[in-house]
Amino acid sequence: MDLTYSAGEEAFRAEARAWLEANVPRGLESGDTAVGFAQHLEWERLLFEAGWAVVSWPRDYGGRDASLWEWLIFEEEYYRAGAPMRVTQNGIFLLAPTIFEFGTPEQQARVLPRMAAAQDLWCQGWSEPGAGSDLAATKARAVRDEQRGGWRLTGQKTWTTRGAFCTHMFGLFRTDPESERHRGLTYFMVPLDTPGVTVRGFGRLDGDEGFAEVFLEDAFVPDDAVLGGVDRGWSVAMATTGSERGLTLRSPGRFLSAAQRLVELARSQGVGDDALARDRVVRAWIDAEAYQLFTLQQVTEIAAGAATGARSSLNKLFWSELDVRLHEAALDLLGPEAELDDAWSRGFLFALAGPIYAGTNEIQRNIVAERVLGLPRK
Ligand SMILES: Cc1cc2nc3c(=O)[nH]c(=O)nc-3n(C[C@H](O)[C@H](O)[C@H](O)COP(=O)(O)OP(=O)(O)OC[C@H]3O[C@@H](n4cnc5c(N)ncnc54)[C@H](O)[C@@H]3O)c2cc1C
Repeated sequence: MDLTYSAGEEAFRAEARAWLEANVPRGLESGDTAVGFAQHLEWERLLFEAGWAVVSWPRDYGGRDASLWEWLIFEEEYYRAGAPMRVTQNGIFLLAPTIFEFGTPEQQARVLPRMAAAQDLWCQGWSEPGAGSDLAATKARAVRDEQRGGWRLTGQKTWTTRGAFCTHMFGLFRTDPESERHRGLTYFMVPLDTPGVTVRGFGRLDGDEGFAEVFLEDAFVPDDAVLGGVDRGWSVAMATTGSERGLTLRSPGRFLSAAQRLVELARSQGVGDDALARDRVVRAWIDAEAYQLFTLQQVTEIAAGAATGARSSLNKLFWSELDVRLHEAALDLLGPEAELDDAWSRGFLFALAGPIYAGTNEIQRNIVAERVLGLPRK
């Protein structure tokens, strides 16, 4: 693994840093509130206009043809500059890699440029009241409409992040009524203004109102809403989870910058002789560096043609637990003042969700045990 960057990569970093330092907005409200979401969109559209929204995508779709290394550099600079989490992330980081892998050229041309420009806003419709960890228990169904050349969707999705503000949803539906579990599922892309779709927003633990339940009642979508083939949804969905747990959703830059803020907090609070507090800060910093190195190793392997597969569960376990420890250390340093520190206390509440979303950590441990380590199922 070569950890030195080329002159071109350093120039890319310098260009990204200069642009971000001049343009990153300050003081946006949470992107999971209606007001904050609108503020974030303004920012993400500016990113797009300057060519920084989707750096690793082809130029035709609004990107810069950047390599994976350059994408990591951009992410590092993005968080270093204090830029906010992307409200378009479930589209650009989860659905887009899946469309690059499984979409037809027509789907790629139709969906990707509007996604990059933050015109179409995508949410993830996987979880249902009876299908969370057990995604293969999906009950929402799609019935063939031969006459109109498409499908009628019926069912309920829940925990749809920013669903209350998005325009489109991707999700799994059962197309073969006789099928069970992983078979007979199909991956659909659904405009949320389709007649028969009702989106009902609801609040989260931290008070933000972006979560939604999505109800579908005979909602018609044409054949070109199917991604990756009828009854093949499970393998398409597994590609999305690879992105969600692995490289793309939570890049190391985010944790490096949080660890740096923690070090600064420790200095400003004067941890002095408190060996325990110092130890926790140092551990968070080392963990963020370790995650960075682990990711660089993964990118090296991907660049050589290897697939990440089930090992993406290792990333997810590592970043989600690191995030909780890092925020706990910050709150302990702040003591009672933590109540007044919005960034750290809200960050802590969100960190607590990390071991749940993108597949719970118990499920990731099962996957690592069985599919990475080859341990017996029972
Ligand atoms: C902040 C946040 C954002 C989310 N965003 C979205 C979104 O945008 N779209 C979407 O579709 N979903 C989203 N989710 C939902 C998330 O994917 C589910 O919460 C998660 O998959 C767990 O499902 P569940 O809540 O039904 O819990 P359950 O599956 O009922 O699990 C309950 C508990 O049982 C444990 N458990 C279950 N099965 C096993 C097993 N086989 N072995 C060991 N332990 C087990 C789980 O680990 C968990 O602790 C989000 C969740 C959160 C917290």
